[in-house]
Amino acid sequence: MHLLTYARDGSTRLGRRGADGIVDLTDALDVADVGALLARPDLVERVADATGEAVDRATVEVRAPITRPGKIICVGLNYHDHCREQSIEPPAYPMLFSKFANAVADPGAPVTRPVATEKLDLECELAVVVGRRASRIGREEAASVIFGYTVLNDVTMRDLQREDRQWLRAKGSDGFAPMGPAVATADEVPDPQALRLRSFVNGETWQDSSTAEMVFDVATIVAFASRTITLEPGDVIATGTPAGVGHYQAPPRYLADGDVMRCEIEGIGAIENPVVDQPGRTDDHAMAAGVASLGAGSR
Ligand code: MG
Repeated sequence: MHLLTYARDGSTRLGRRGADGIVDLTDALDVADVGALLARPDLVERVADATGEAVDRATVEVRAPITRPGKIICVGLNYHDHCREQSIEPPAYPMLFSKFANAVADPGAPVTRPVATEKLDLECELAVVVGRRASRIGREEAASVIFGYTVLNDVTMRDLQREDRQWLRAKGSDGFAPMGPAVATADEVPDPQALRLRSFVNGETWQDSSTAEMVFDVATIVAFASRTITLEPGDVIATGTPAGVGHYQAPPRYLADGDVMRCEIEGIGAIENPVVDQPGRTDDHAMAAGVASLGAGSR
């Protein structure tokens, strides 16, 4: 089952992907998006059998399935091939960091390239959608916590990632977590460690790898995170990216105004987002743009 959040006539609605379009579930279940569904275990039990109006997908806008996640937990350096392309050893334990809900972007929505960066990059990632509250669970319990999976693009400013020495601005800026197009329920993904995942820029392949390259598998990441952070329904855990990002290509490549990013994971789906320069863009760089221009207003 692929569940999605879509917008029609100015409001969001819950849908299930059908053979030819979307089956609307909002009237049947009285919830308006996937995040609201996950907060109601009684409705989750009913979602597979619920029925509703058939909707032509071409007539609606698909939104990020979880529009306001309580937490977006991310993992850095979690693919062997991504560590190799940087000539570094894989970490000894999962390197967790976070994004906030401001970073969520819908499939198809433009992602703004801030004035502050000259080195915008993409990262295609398998994202876990948490289905139930969990604290200090073991690996063997992780499957019971996972409601499903979606595609997340961990958009990154490589210059700020280095200069800031932590990753809040580089990875947490507005719109830096395009997500979707649907949540594939866990039963649709029998082996999350055997999925082909690819990214493209303007149709050209940048990343083409497999979740088999993960340093720490999905179950380990979920259990590890839960040791110190209580997981809640609707939380999203992005599990890292493989080799092929622009920064480690030879020569390095970065995203520019008008480029179209595509992130695709076998059996789950694909999202495309164009890059658009922030209005008023100048050649000012990184730190200077972040401070020296503050008197000039937010645009
Ligand atoms: Mg990443």
